[in-house]
Amino acid sequence: MIYADNAATTRMSDAAIHTMTVLMKEAWGNPSSLYTHGQNAKEILEQARKDVAEVIGADPSEIIFTSGGSEADNQAIRSAAALGRTKGKMHIISTAFEHHAVLHTLEALAKEGFEITLLDVHANGIVLPEEVEAAIREDTCLVTIMAANNEIGTIQPIREIGAICRSKNILFHTDAVQAIAHIPVNVSEDHIDLLSASAHKFHGPKGVGFLYARKGVRLTNLIEGGAQERGKRAGTENIPGIASMAAALKETYAGMAENAARLTVLRDRLIHGLQQIPHSALNGDALRRLPGNVNFCFEGIEGESLLLLLDDKGICASSGSACTSGSLDPSHVLLAIGRVHDVAHGSLRLSLGEDATEEDVDYIIKSVGEVVGYLRGFSPIWRDLMSGKKEFIL
Ligand SMILES: *Cc1c(COP(=O)(O)O)cnc(C)c1O
Repeated sequence: MIYADNAATTRMSDAAIHTMTVLMKEAWGNPSSLYTHGQNAKEILEQARKDVAEVIGADPSEIIFTSGGSEADNQAIRSAAALGRTKGKMHIISTAFEHHAVLHTLEALAKEGFEITLLDVHANGIVLPEEVEAAIREDTCLVTIMAANNEIGTIQPIREIGAICRSKNILFHTDAVQAIAHIPVNVSEDHIDLLSASAHKFHGPKGVGFLYARKGVRLTNLIEGGAQERGKRAGTENIPGIASMAAALKETYAGMAENAARLTVLRDRLIHGLQQIPHSALNGDALRRLPGNVNFCFEGIEGESLLLLLDDKGICASSGSACTSGSLDPSHVLLAIGRVHDVAHGSLRLSLGEDATEEDVDYIIKSVGEVVGYLRGFSPIWRDLMSGKKEFIL
């Protein structure tokens, strides 16, 4: 099997599994308990906080552990909105191609009276800092823009956007779930006030993540209860999960530069190979994208059938994002970069993992070519395109 869906989730690393299993046996104490067994768990928790903070250039006191990226996004945005409301600032800037954890939170805030501006991401899937600047108003309380897109992998100019927000005293949140441990992110150099991350996107366990909130940015609770996580996130801490996340993060981050260089070569080989398929197009900027991300549209086919046939060939890939597959709506990300419905339906995302090889890539190129040709063979849309009844877009 070739697993090329690392943007949906990643395999847990051996270090992460080892840490988790050992701690489930040995560190099951409650970190809030005062006896030694509890305090040992507390020490493990605080070491994990230090490790996570170090990777993003934060102070440990600025890290809150959460149940994952979605919770961190919700809490970051809700917190900034609550702070904005107290100052009468109820305008938020974001983009049309954010993850649903961001978009749906913004939709909920719109119902509560906030005004939301969703910026254009252009055909290359990249937001322009000057357009962020131009959208800022007197009553803007938050700019939330992802560091890297989960479908098309495009990398956003967050450092420039962060600098603009900082100079105007506006909070900047970035959903960095796809970026952390894959490309460099540093909260101080990038002027980030709030950042979300998720363990299962960097070889840690599912159901664990963290929220960075710069000192002085007051958080709003999503979960009320005990005083865990400085009173900002109630519930007995998931020690094995959190320590496992820290182990995965340290390891993936340590190999980041080397893996990125190697994966970029494989990614470009894959892009070049798939571009040979007629009436196909790469989605998103060719260079400013995550090292392992390839996303294509093939005219005249359905992404879902493509996935099933690739599965038969032992290739795990995705069409649109994992969260939207199963629905008939084409990906909101592809629509945001201007793909029309018909074309957006025939999309394929391949996200390579650190263990990918040149042979894997060549096998994927060959298989996708065969499957696309096969599906076009009995596609009514393809027939109309070939007979000239419909015009090719790609
Ligand atoms: C996966 C993902 C999330 C959600 O993270 P979970 O830990 O699965 O809740 C949020 N944002 C982006 C960009 C993602 O890729």
